[in-house]
Amino acid sequence: MPHALTLNAGSSSLKFGYFQLRDDGADPEARIVGLVERIGAGERAHIRARGPDGTVLVDEEFGRNHVPDHAAALGEVVAFLRAQRPDARFAAVGHRVVHGGPDFDAPVELTDEVMQRLAEFQPLAPLHQPHNLSGVRAAFDLFPDAVQVACFDTAFHRHHPWVNDTFAIPRKYYDQGVRRYGFHGLSYDYIAGKLAEIAPHLHMGRTIVAHLGNGASMCGLMGGRSVASSMGFTALDGLPMGTRCGQLDPGVLLYMLQTEGMSAAEIQDLLYKESGLLGLSELSNDMRTLEAAAKDNERAREAIAYFVFRIRRELGALAAALGGLSTLIFTGGIGENSAHIREKVCAGMDWIGMELDEGRNQRGEQLISTDFSRVRILVIPTNEELVIARAARDMVAERKDAAE
Ligand code: AMP
Repeated sequence: MPHALTLNAGSSSLKFGYFQLRDDGADPEARIVGLVERIGAGERAHIRARGPDGTVLVDEEFGRNHVPDHAAALGEVVAFLRAQRPDARFAAVGHRVVHGGPDFDAPVELTDEVMQRLAEFQPLAPLHQPHNLSGVRAAFDLFPDAVQVACFDTAFHRHHPWVNDTFAIPRKYYDQGVRRYGFHGLSYDYIAGKLAEIAPHLHMGRTIVAHLGNGASMCGLMGGRSVASSMGFTALDGLPMGTRCGQLDPGVLLYMLQTEGMSAAEIQDLLYKESGLLGLSELSNDMRTLEAAAKDNERAREAIAYFVFRIRRELGALAAALGGLSTLIFTGGIGENSAHIREKVCAGMDWIGMELDEGRNQRGEQLISTDFSRVRILVIPTNEELVIARAARDMVAERKDAAE
């Protein structure tokens, strides 16, 4: 059976997955998942990968400047995979592409025309989109015969009601594409599917998913479909993140421009790279570091308190948008691993019908609400790579059908 490669390019990282496709319609099987970190000129990049049973297959640092860009990182990934699996036959390469703009509400085969359209969305996701597209170009060179598929973080949210899709600025901007897109759609897609599998009756109801990682957002779903998201036009809005500010009064931007005399590039760096948990704590963007420091460091405590406060506010807002709540799901690095943050988010939320079971939460069980809680509270590890691999499988099958 053929294989699929999944690629998920961040600003200085490249996640990859090597999947075995199956022709019985079952989920692709992850054989190798890994990551190249610290990509960039002057950096010492690092590659790590594991097999399906968690065995470490590689954990190595490259020499300085050895991996200056994403194309070089992909070259290293492919050399590593070919050494591990000389029999690999890549029928498809699935790419996570952050922004699909107003056009794309599903995965799409990448052609020159699609690439041109996606390049137009670069200003909407300046930290991610250029890297996503350079990964696609490099993959075209390395795998000229494979189907290249784009999977968008925005696609899952494309059918929001208009009131959740617009800003109250002159309408011409909506027509130009200035809309509330929402992101983390691959993660929400996975979680919605998993909920349908483990609890179909809950899947039919009103659900809020809190994707809490280095990037963080929340999504309100009705019957498994996205109705509202905390993220908007770019991946800056909503919750505070590792280094991104989250919701901000636009008047603050005017102040930065007019009073502080900052340039657009400086403001971009401030909002994307210097804000969020890092900006507030002046210590770290990493929740583990902040939790470890919180006992003796007031700013770390305050950064965590702000993060939790905004999640709780968004929870109330999304529950109102949904007209009620049956299930809350935590996911992402923080949502999956920090019992402390989950406890703080759920504290005193009995007014909305939530009752956390302390023991289940501490033990990291899948169901962490009490048996009496009206709202079910779950922890479900996300799997964006599998969603990309499924799209790659479907595109390979479509091609095969078309050829027959
Ligand atoms: P992600 O972007 O989904 O990989 O999530 C990264 C975030 O998850 C970072 O802020 C990590 O510090 C955080 N994280 C991972 N494990 C833990 C943990 N055990 N406790 C608290 N935060 C964690």
